[in-house]
Amino acid sequence: MEESILSPIIVDGHEDIAYNRFVLSRDLFESVAEKRAREGPQPVHGGGSATVGYPELMLGNVRIVFATLYAAPERPGRAEFGKTYSSQQQAHDQAWEQLQYYISIASDPRVTLITRRADLDRVISSPNPGLGLVVLMEGADPIVQPKEVSEWFDAGVRIVGTSWGKTRYAGGTGAPGGLSQLGLELLAEMEGAGMVLDISHMAEQSFFEALDLFHGSMMASHSNCRAFVDTDRQLSDEMIRALVTRDGVIGTVVYNRFLQAGWDKKMGKDAVGLEDVVRHIRHVCDLAGDTLHAAIGSDFDGGFGNESTPREIDTVADLQKLDAVLARDLTNEDVSNILGENWIRFLRRVLPE
Ligand SMILES: [Zn+2]
Repeated sequence: MEESILSPIIVDGHEDIAYNRFVLSRDLFESVAEKRAREGPQPVHGGGSATVGYPELMLGNVRIVFATLYAAPERPGRAEFGKTYSSQQQAHDQAWEQLQYYISIASDPRVTLITRRADLDRVISSPNPGLGLVVLMEGADPIVQPKEVSEWFDAGVRIVGTSWGKTRYAGGTGAPGGLSQLGLELLAEMEGAGMVLDISHMAEQSFFEALDLFHGSMMASHSNCRAFVDTDRQLSDEMIRALVTRDGVIGTVVYNRFLQAGWDKKMGKDAVGLEDVVRHIRHVCDLAGDTLHAAIGSDFDGGFGNESTPREIDTVADLQKLDAVLARDLTNEDVSNILGENWIRFLRRVLPE
């Protein structure tokens, strides 16, 4: 008997899985319902109700996730981050611990660490459900010295973003500025190692400097369009066009604040819908002139919870609902590109053999 045809493979360009493990004590394999039952009706930690669990990822056919190494810099008023760093060594140690966590869960048959093309092919072609993780460092402070890039690469990291806020390497969100001398050295090391540059959170000036100076592959794991939400956390049309010329892929964040200008938690999740997600995706497609550069980078459980996601989203499994909304005026091929194939093609190009 034939199995029913699965909806398209979804690839999510950004989830803080290890951060959730270490700071919020959330186990990847635990279901969303179990997490919510354990954490109670009043979501703690400032992050909100859980959205991600392995069972829901499989239910939604989310087969590949770019899983972050994220350490939070110490800042006043950032108590909800739970664990922060105030030195490069602390940032290093926290990110290294997160990387070891991904390596350890990859010993479970349900999880594959994707570091080479063969790993990618294995995850996609496997008849059994399973999750592939591509490790992405969000903010490069854990790299104490630029020459350590190759150590992180050898240990399995494939993508690095220079910034979150400002780092020693580059300007970041809410912190305009260009690349530092150390940042130039970092990009040179990254190019040499074959490390992908994630430009999400880069300050605009740093982005355009990197565009000139960095000849490796570039992407935006989780960035929306400034055309609709005008802050420096989003990408201007010029930045999107520039990324497209480099054949980059842009993951759309499924976070109401980044989807709709002026959205506030008090407005409730019903104020935003999947049509808002599609609006950002379609804008990237319009600027690109094709459907080959827009993708998903949900950032679910990345400092916000279910309460701050569109009305149709209860868990990560509901990303599947984008299929029908996108299909209203796109072909099936376009929809598969956006939901997963664009990230897959990008990974096939950038991963070592
Ligand atoms: Zn982020």
